[in-house]
Amino acid sequence: DPNSIQPKLCVVGSGPASFYAAQQILKALPKVQIDIFERLPVPFGLVRFGVAPDHPEVKNVINTFTKTAQDPRVKFIGNVKLGQDVSLAELQNAYHSVLLAYGAEEDRLLGIPGENLDNILSAREFVGWYNGLPNNKDLKFNLNIEKVAIIGQGNVALDVARILLSPIDLLKKTDITEYSLAALADSKVKEVKLIGRRGPLQVAFTIKEFREMLRLPRCFVNMNAEDFAGLDAIVPNLPRPRKRLTELLMKSISTSKETEADKCFNPIFFRTPKSFQSGEDASSVGALTVAVNTMEGENAVETDVLETIECGLVLRSIGYKSIQADSAIPFNSKRGLVENSGGVIQPGLYVSGWLGTGPVGVILSTMTNAFAVGQTMASDILNNTVDASIKKPGFEFIGSLLKKKGIQTVSFADWEQIDKVEQSRGKEKGKLREKIVDVKEMLTIASG
Ligand code: FAD
Repeated sequence: DPNSIQPKLCVVGSGPASFYAAQQILKALPKVQIDIFERLPVPFGLVRFGVAPDHPEVKNVINTFTKTAQDPRVKFIGNVKLGQDVSLAELQNAYHSVLLAYGAEEDRLLGIPGENLDNILSAREFVGWYNGLPNNKDLKFNLNIEKVAIIGQGNVALDVARILLSPIDLLKKTDITEYSLAALADSKVKEVKLIGRRGPLQVAFTIKEFREMLRLPRCFVNMNAEDFAGLDAIVPNLPRPRKRLTELLMKSISTSKETEADKCFNPIFFRTPKSFQSGEDASSVGALTVAVNTMEGENAVETDVLETIECGLVLRSIGYKSIQADSAIPFNSKRGLVENSGGVIQPGLYVSGWLGTGPVGVILSTMTNAFAVGQTMASDILNNTVDASIKKPGFEFIGSLLKKKGIQTVSFADWEQIDKVEQSRGKEKGKLREKIVDVKEMLTIASG
């Protein structure tokens, strides 16, 4: 009888992988207690810090997450970092089951010469900067340049391209941070190249995001028609979403809808980055050397032909990996994820979201994964794979441990205070919210 067991569970991380799993567990276990530990004082992971500011509708999932967090059986505990403030062993002692859902924060590198020049950053850092991620708020780079090269052709690459090419008025009312709005208003960026190793058939962005590029005022899209050679014959047989996207790409090889367009978006195909060179300023990037590729099936193969692409800013958008937050976590450092089978690391220890699947897919695919892992966690308790009749101290133990260490924790009600301040500061400026980017300030409001 589910009503007779009172399991204590905890989750590490508070992004989609956390809240969607919690939602399923609450459904299956009426007497459960779920404690959600989050490194930052604020919840929601990449929904707050990844999703583009001009896509507010994507953030509506926060409403559902908020309902889950407000369930009396759920406790949000912000400002607690696994591997620093609390260990996995401590969590396992305190709870019947532990779910790891701390995402994939590390960037993949190209590993080519010159990559450490100034003004080469990861797209993710750039996103963190404009979205107010405390770690990235002081990121140093220079927008007083005209040409940008983005390496990678996924949706995040398009997000950063769009932000760089958008008229500033389109961003003013969003929750983009004030300091980045000011920097973008002074930006000299005129041209953004989006560099991919493979061809138009392999782009990883979706049609909605590409359409937004086509609709950007005063910006024209420009691609090399030769890169589309032979596609006419292939397109009719493609699966529907890929077919529609490819048709749109072919229709848009060169758009110049507005004669006064003074900015350009330029996807470049079949090119592999080989090295970076400095420009006038010896410490900053000025150009990128690429190898021209041919395709063998789905794979890009480099030729000996090299080209040079001028660029004063480079944003790498070639994927992420997770880190081993605690040495007791069975971690595959080569793949950059936690080893698991269907979310199970071992009975009582689970993983969901990007940490378990690898950093691929959107919120929806993360939801599907987290739903399944949450259901598995609940059924492992219902069928006694995990013995919930043993008494566990839960937050009573962890809370006193954190107190001893002098760590200020942030409750969901505290977050709601921070949220209120952000919204009212936003209102004064005619925008959705003005995010607080300083952890100390967040903690001050939380304790007020
Ligand atoms: P995350 O959302 O990253 O959540 C992990 C959480 O764990 C974070 O809150 C983090 O602070 C916390 N954490 C990390 N380490 C620790 C620790 N040691 N202790 C405690 N807590 C910790 N998908 C869409 O559908 N639409 C979009 O528009 C979209 N835009 C995106 C933009 C960017 C830049 C990126 C990178 C991704 C985007 N995605 C988008 C994908 C989507 O964000 C992911 O699918 C989803 O967020 C993954 O969820 P997660 O819970 O696994 O990880």
